[in-house]
Amino acid sequence: MYYCPLPTIPYIAFMNLSQLLSFFLIASLLISCGKQAEDQTSDTKAFTGATIFDGTGSDPILNGVIVVRDGRIVSVGPAETTDIPDGAERLDLSGKWVIPGLINAHGHVGNVRGLGLGHYSAENIQRQLELYAKYGITTVVSLGDDRDQAESFRAANDTSAGRSFARLYIAGDVVNGATPEAATTVVDKNVSMGVDFIKIRVDDNLGQSAKMSPDIYRPVIDRAHAHGMKLAAHMYYLADAKDLLRSGADFIAHSVRDTNVDSEFISLMKEKGVCYCPTLTRDLSTFVYETRPDFFDDPFFLQEADTVVLRMLEEPERQAQIRNSVSAQTYKRALETALSNLKILADSGVTIAFGTDSGMPARFQGYFEHIEMEMMADAGMTPKQVLLSATRDAAQCLDLKDVGTLTKDFWADFVVLNADPLENIRNCRQIHGVWIGGKRLDY
Ligand SMILES: [Zn+2]
Repeated sequence: MYYCPLPTIPYIAFMNLSQLLSFFLIASLLISCGKQAEDQTSDTKAFTGATIFDGTGSDPILNGVIVVRDGRIVSVGPAETTDIPDGAERLDLSGKWVIPGLINAHGHVGNVRGLGLGHYSAENIQRQLELYAKYGITTVVSLGDDRDQAESFRAANDTSAGRSFARLYIAGDVVNGATPEAATTVVDKNVSMGVDFIKIRVDDNLGQSAKMSPDIYRPVIDRAHAHGMKLAAHMYYLADAKDLLRSGADFIAHSVRDTNVDSEFISLMKEKGVCYCPTLTRDLSTFVYETRPDFFDDPFFLQEADTVVLRMLEEPERQAQIRNSVSAQTYKRALETALSNLKILADSGVTIAFGTDSGMPARFQGYFEHIEMEMMADAGMTPKQVLLSATRDAAQCLDLKDVGTLTKDFWADFVVLNADPLENIRNCRQIHGVWIGGKRLDY
């Protein structure tokens, strides 16, 4: 371990000439000493003193150490038993809590600016992935409407260590078609673009449109599997969710919202090993702007929110329209069903993958993930269950590589908090800093 003491600068003013000369001689030695230390460390950092929730399900590690080299975790454990390599840069996190970077298993990127869709660009993807990252969401699975511009971000998941934006996985076009052939052609096209998942929508939008039929989605699911891809299904109704499970769907991308789930659904989920992604804030967003939401006064929200968008959402005509909208009021009731279903499923041992469907208009990326966690806790999940859902489980459900837990050889993606998240999930908002690939986000 190198120790390079720094002279106290204010004394320079009181030095005579010979003292000044010796000062510069010592200073130059110290600078070379610093360089030498830097060369030897090869970017090794040791984070010390924090309570570490590593996302594996184990008890938190008190006075823990995380050693990171070249963006990846070398070791995690209690101070007494974890070696800190000579020359490692030590970062004291005493009094803090560390959790793995949060994972949104259902988001969207690149399309929205303000309240409008249709702004897809690499620059917009980058901006939105940075926004997620600032809120501690270090990995985002974009489930649909992804285009070529997303490829370079996706490709960077496993190559870049230090980065300022969330890792991105994509699903390409949401698959549909008038015939099985037309629909499976979209699957092939997505695969040749280089997607991670296939996404379908089985929904009639509260009776407003035609639903994708089993005759179409079953061959789509089979084609996805033939390519070795998992298929994520947007759905609303319990009966559709069950048929999707029987047909081989790998991910239930929203809550069941028409009625309470039953034992048949629970058995199917567990038998097939499929995860359930509640996206409670998706439904919240459909009616919450009928009045001015409380979070419009939350500094944690306002630090990144676009005030022009807030003013638009506060317009009385818009609020009245939402109050009078049959669909908004139906989704409001549906959310109550979603909340009770989440509790039933979590208690039954179905794996819950954290996800929000943020990145659509008025679903604020980054902040909505924190509302979602709070709503999951309000539904009856413990803070530990919520955190596991947003770390280990989200990663495992979708086979995301080297993220989700603070484990040897995984990416050093983590969030440092000023308060204990296991005591209150809202403490995840007390962000001290966010590290992605071992590099602290600078903002
Ligand atoms: Zn979605």
